Amino acid sequence: MRLIAGNWKMHKTASETEEYIKSFLKFVEHPESREILLCPPFTSLYIAGKLLEGTGVKLGAQNCHYEREGAFTGEISIPMLKELGCEYVIVGHSERRHIFGEDDELINRKLVACLEEGIRPILCVGEKLEDREAGMTFKVVETQVRLALSGLEEHTDRIDIAYEPVWAIGTGVPATPEDAVSVHRFIKELLKDINPKNEGRTRILYGGSVKPGNAGDFMKHSEIEGLLVGGASLDPESFAKIVYSF
Ligand code: PEP
Repeated sequence: MRLIAGNWKMHKTASETEEYIKSFLKFVEHPESREILLCPPFTSLYIAGKLLEGTGVKLGAQNCHYEREGAFTGEISIPMLKELGCEYVIVGHSERRHIFGEDDELINRKLVACLEEGIRPILCVGEKLEDREAGMTFKVVETQVRLALSGLEEHTDRIDIAYEPVWAIGTGVPATPEDAVSVHRFIKELLKDINPKNEGRTRILYGGSVKPGNAGDFMKHSEIEGLLVGGASLDPESFAKIVYSF
């Protein structure tokens, strides 16, 4: 089933979350026809989990720590997320990589922990503008995928991957659906090489300036198995239009 995920980033207080979800749920029909996922900030997960219970709309977090507990001031563990109802966690978002310095090794440790703890990670990969201009898109994506999945070759069916070109995130300049499809095909081939037994069992989502007006153009392509939506997921009506764009 295709997955449409909203990444709110650092937006919305708990009370704003409550208002959003009450409004968003009015737009939701046939939740069984697609997977719908909301990823609010940590401080909103409790209220979101309560409001989404039994609705078919799923809850995810934007980040996690790889240890279950310990002296890691300011961090949040996977058991903490699961108790609030999170079924998903975004790992290696470009803002985590490029603003907070997360490297491939840390991202790999987080993925290992997600699979051990039983939460489904959405691994984000994507090239910067200078990589694309230097013709390095496939190389960069390959390195990120291989390092992130190192040691997890058996479990590629328990992970989703979001291809999010960094230059398209929050810029209003999406990749063309054709460019996205070519990277998605490349990632699919790569995954087949990593573990042929799991061929076709990892969903590849696209993310980067998806809006109600262009979501359908991406979702026309069978290689695009979902969307990760930032800015346009912050308004319930706009996110609902994206969810029902196909
Ligand atoms: C994102 O945060 O993953 C994202 C794709 O953001 P935006 O939709 O705003 O480009």
